[in-house]
Amino acid sequence: MISSDIDEYGVWNLVPLELTQRSRLYHLLPIGVGTAQVESLTGYIVRLAEAHCVPVMTLIAKEIAPMANAAYLREKELRGFNKFSRMINGFGVVAATFKDALESLTLRKDLMYLTLLPWQKVMTNKCLLRQSQAWCPECYEEWKDAGKIIYFPLLWALNMITICPVHSRELIMECPFCKCNLYFIDSYSRAGFCSKCGYWLGKTCHSNNKVITITQETALLERVWTANSFGDLLKTAPISVSLPVREQISFSLVRCIQQVTEGNTYEFARFVGLNKNMLGDWRLGRHIPQVNYLSKICYRIGVSMAEFLLKDPVVKISTPTQTSYRKQAKRCIPNKEDVLKAFNNAVKEHPPATIKDISKIIGYSASKLYKNYPEQCKAISILVAKNKSRMLNEKWENIRVKMVAALNETNMQVSIAALSKKLSCHESALYRKFPELCHAIAAKHKDVGS
Ligand SMILES: [Zn+2]
Ligand SMILES: [Zn+2]
Repeated sequence: MISSDIDEYGVWNLVPLELTQRSRLYHLLPIGVGTAQVESLTGYIVRLAEAHCVPVMTLIAKEIAPMANAAYLREKELRGFNKFSRMINGFGVVAATFKDALESLTLRKDLMYLTLLPWQKVMTNKCLLRQSQAWCPECYEEWKDAGKIIYFPLLWALNMITICPVHSRELIMECPFCKCNLYFIDSYSRAGFCSKCGYWLGKTCHSNNKVITITQETALLERVWTANSFGDLLKTAPISVSLPVREQISFSLVRCIQQVTEGNTYEFARFVGLNKNMLGDWRLGRHIPQVNYLSKICYRIGVSMAEFLLKDPVVKISTPTQTSYRKQAKRCIPNKEDVLKAFNNAVKEHPPATIKDISKIIGYSASKLYKNYPEQCKAISILVAKNKSRMLNEKWENIRVKMVAALNETNMQVSIAALSKKLSCHESALYRKFPELCHAIAAKHKDVGS
């Protein structure tokens, strides 16, 4: 080869390329950061476990716990972990520990916005996070139909949010099928499915049509307003120049009291319907208000929570704010005839309405119904329990028949994972209920595949 031939080839750069740092776990993108529908950190953990094809508790025990190095995350302690998993979405030590550990494992920098950590200086823990999940079945169903990722928004983890601001309907707080409350993280957690019975929690589940839709006549303005206001707050977090400080509360309160009652705290307390001594303490910065009180003040004076906590608030009182939350509460003492009628109707419904449903329909608390109508409540409870058991048996029988058909179908071989999706039932639930059938189907799939 002559030298002119060699000159035709470029000179190789032999300097080694610098590789960026690799993350231990997937660099999974959290959903909706910077929107009111931002994902919760517990929801993110559930999706991360699913992306790695491991149970959630395994991910926590084997990856997050060693990184977090926290005593309460030792493997033997994880048994009761589901009960306090809700705290991961808050702003305390647990939230900070999980956020740090997960950011180290995924190399993400935005997981703080999946928690309430940005608001830790201006919120108190009391009444902040709900004990168990609440969800909007219509949101789940819409995401599923649109082929979007199913996830658990942070807004649904807040105790004060009882309405879906997108669909203006009540959030559901128990699985319509097994009637269980669901922890935020459980051994078999999967977004959009019941972690106890594996049932799909979207709108198609059978009893959701009983849930009262918020119409204009029955609208509780304050609840809708609260959901929207909290949504704005979550939306604001990533774009705020600085995080709110404790002093902001007394500053904003002083400004609002000045605008509404010309500096008279006593009159302001009466106006917003709160105790004047509490308000005095908050005004002087001795304490900060529980988030439900904060929301109540903001609602009454027409200032969004984001404005109250981040800016110099300008009061916008409109007459509707003075309406009837209290009046509504007072007039909700139904007469006996109406209550008995509601019980009779509930018995005729299929599936029968629960005590909670009746309580919502007549606007009378469930505890008062139990106290004043024990016989009727007992009859309803028995009916609901019988129906639940019957439905559960029917469901499993239906699934069993389909599994047998899948096994006997000579031209078809299907994996348990695919079958569980088709049956809208978690894979682990299938194995627990029908171990032999599952093993036979898995063996058939393996045989045909090999
Ligand atoms: Zn919704
Ligand atoms: Zn369930």
